[in-house]
Amino acid sequence: MTKTEQLYEGKAKKVYATEDPQVVIVSYKDDATAFNGLKKGQIAGKGAINNRVTNYLMQLLEKEGVPTHFVEELNDRETAVKKVSIVPLEVIIRNISAGSFAKRYGVEEGIVFDEPTIEFSYKNDDLGDPLINEYHVLALKLATREEIDLIKAMAFKVNDVLKKFFAGVNVDLVDFKLEFGKTAEGVIVLADEISPDTCRFWDSTTHEKLDKDRFRRDLGNVEDAYTEMLRRILG
Ligand code: UDP
Repeated sequence: MTKTEQLYEGKAKKVYATEDPQVVIVSYKDDATAFNGLKKGQIAGKGAINNRVTNYLMQLLEKEGVPTHFVEELNDRETAVKKVSIVPLEVIIRNISAGSFAKRYGVEEGIVFDEPTIEFSYKNDDLGDPLINEYHVLALKLATREEIDLIKAMAFKVNDVLKKFFAGVNVDLVDFKLEFGKTAEGVIVLADEISPDTCRFWDSTTHEKLDKDRFRRDLGNVEDAYTEMLRRILG
């Protein structure tokens, strides 16, 4: 599997075409952004960590019956994945209050919910990824009713699998963001990444933050937190 031309460069990854029209290569960068690109920086070693963490979790999810875009890890920071068209939604699952939820509803962080919540944001940088409800998703033809229902079921299944997995490494899975894609055959699969960039991870004992909030909030020891999560996940 070799790269041909670059198709796209995003905030944290580059995407390349390959000789196989059904497969692309993602290359994870050390660049970090927050607050819709307003805060920019680098987290040394992040690309390689997010690549390995994502691939481990995608393979775990496949084993548990969740279809993903994962094909093959190529090296430290590059992975072959199925070419998909991304459904322009950020799907956010929460188990514990934090971040924008705590801010929006004026509650403290750390409230453990009886049931996980789900919400959607419309992936649109110019608009700042606004919250969107299912009726609006249908009105804007971003996904069909069947696709929304499937995406919700898959997202809750991902939460069940990951919550259990992270509990086993003494980490509370606070919240996370998923993206889904549609293959050439029209099959919805889990895409993008699952990493300390896209999840909130709190140590179950100390409640220490082991994720991108260390970068967003200038808490220090950012690289150490990412390295610690890699260590706990890959053992
Ligand atoms: N998240 C993400 N990308 C985004 C927005 C959120 O990966 O563009 C993740 C974030 O890391 C967290 C979860 O989704 O794990 C919920 O984020 P929240 O809505 O609380 O927003 P934030 O406080 O990060 O702005």
